[in-house]
Amino acid sequence: MQVDGRCHCGHIRYEAEIEPDRVIICHCTDCQTLSGSAFRVVVQTRPGQFRLQSGTPKTYSKVADSGAVREQGFCPECGTPIFSRPVGDGSEAVGLRVGTITQRNELVPRDQYWCRSSQTWLVELPDMHRREKQPVFRADGGFET
Ligand SMILES: [Zn+2]
Ligand SMILES: [Zn+2]
Repeated sequence: MQVDGRCHCGHIRYEAEIEPDRVIICHCTDCQTLSGSAFRVVVQTRPGQFRLQSGTPKTYSKVADSGAVREQGFCPECGTPIFSRPVGDGSEAVGLRVGTITQRNELVPRDQYWCRSSQTWLVELPDMHRREKQPVFRADGGFET
């Protein structure tokens, strides 16, 4: 499936050919820290099918427990995480951060990794109080309900 995407500020733009049946949720502690969130949603590109259209990502090399090194690519201007990939010659499959993909509403996760470190409250999400938008936050930390 052909997709395109961008970081929040627009400095980084890319196109990719992805495997739409390979959208996964990763609950590992590295993904929690690197995303600043409870989990991360990732899709694999076909090998070598990630093409930068603009911008130069900054990269951070993360060493996994297995010893494998993966480059984490993010926008140097706004910090949006864009991809991770093994260090290599560019022919590798790239793990794209699904939240940066324009067509993300069509991409549904099919599997979950590292559930042993998942946040326990995730099972309560379907029953949690929901709002269509967020409350208005005040500078003193309070908000209008
Ligand atoms: Zn950016
Ligand atoms: Zn992970």
